[in-house]
Amino acid sequence: MISRSECQARDERDPLAPLRHQFYLPEGLSYLDGNSLGALPVAVSECLRTTLEREWGSDLIGSWNAHDWIGLPERLGNMIAPLIGAASGQVIVADSVSVNLFKLLSAGLNLKPGRTTVLSTTDNFPTDLYMAQGLAEMLGDQRCVLQTVGRAELVDGINETTAIVLLTHVDFRSGRMFDMSELTRAAQQRGALVLWDLSHSVGAVPLTLDADRVDMAVGCGYKYLNGGPGAPAFLYLAERHHTQARQPLAGWMGHADPFAFSPDYTQAPAMQGFSTGTPPVLAYRALEAALAVWGSVSIQQVRRKSVELAELFVALVDETSTLDELELRSPRHAADRGSHVAFAHPSGYSIMQALIDRKVVGDFREPDLLRYGFAPLYVRYVDVWDAVAVLRDVIETRIYEAPRYSVRGAVT
Ligand SMILES: *Cc1c(COP(=O)(O)O)cnc(C)c1O
Repeated sequence: MISRSECQARDERDPLAPLRHQFYLPEGLSYLDGNSLGALPVAVSECLRTTLEREWGSDLIGSWNAHDWIGLPERLGNMIAPLIGAASGQVIVADSVSVNLFKLLSAGLNLKPGRTTVLSTTDNFPTDLYMAQGLAEMLGDQRCVLQTVGRAELVDGINETTAIVLLTHVDFRSGRMFDMSELTRAAQQRGALVLWDLSHSVGAVPLTLDADRVDMAVGCGYKYLNGGPGAPAFLYLAERHHTQARQPLAGWMGHADPFAFSPDYTQAPAMQGFSTGTPPVLAYRALEAALAVWGSVSIQQVRRKSVELAELFVALVDETSTLDELELRSPRHAADRGSHVAFAHPSGYSIMQALIDRKVVGDFREPDLLRYGFAPLYVRYVDVWDAVAVLRDVIETRIYEAPRYSVRGAVT
């Protein structure tokens, strides 16, 4: 049996342990949902106060130049680039993941004239499929068709009609991770482009986009990057596509010279051309302050701890006989997973509500999944131990059967 004091000892040895003090986390809470909404970095509230009082409050509109608000999309893109293995100048922070998918799907179709299919997996994150469906409806099936297949049929599904293979690197349900290098090569050998969604990967898993010769990618700012609720997202486009790629959301911030106020659109070169409207400065400042932590920590260290936390969680569930009713729905082998694990239980929703009531926060995904994310910057080994102890308690006592735990909120 793994004891709580062993977990405490691991926390004491953990080189990342001091980073936890850089986050606000309520006392007594095991927060295992940083894969959905990262915790609040202390630096973010300090930075926002300065942005409000000094920049917006005192310097007003002059801040666009004086505090380089206008440069935020590219500056933050270049802060994210090393986290995904990209040289600078290929990432920009803009809009949401969904909107960025639209821009890149459209750009990718134009880069592959004569090919019309966006190929994805049936289990992809719904917004990825919805954005492709919306684009297909707008362009018509002469220009764009979405085709979805099971994971096992993916490689065989890539053919001479495939323009873009659209995949999420770490599956939001199971945590299963695709081999990015291998699939990118398979798609490109068959003449297609790849568009990777890194929402559940960035900040948790080492990524090597340039080395893997990825064409396009998008990712989320509010999960492992801790940029705050609804934080702006990012998009990546390999430099070799910069001169040809065109995106359809031709807003003035993507214009080569926005303050010329020309009546005609000319897309700005490189990544600036993938901006659309005015950046929401407060949200960018929050993300910028949250990204500062990566100056003092390597993604390899983070990955090592993420694997250990998840392995600990699975081992504790395994050794607890009353938790036999839980069925692991994530790969057993850590190398095949991102930074979360999922277990199935027919009363998953009620169990998660009872856990949250007892200060163990994970989340529930339809139809029956209990999902636990491990954000190594602030999750401790004892948090994992406590979470499984409470889980055992909730299941043994069947307290989750109380009617109040089956009441559904709008967000699960
Ligand atoms: C969280 C997440 C998103 C979020 O998309 P938004 O448009 O930014 O809300 C997209 N894709 C995946 C795979 C996600 O996990």
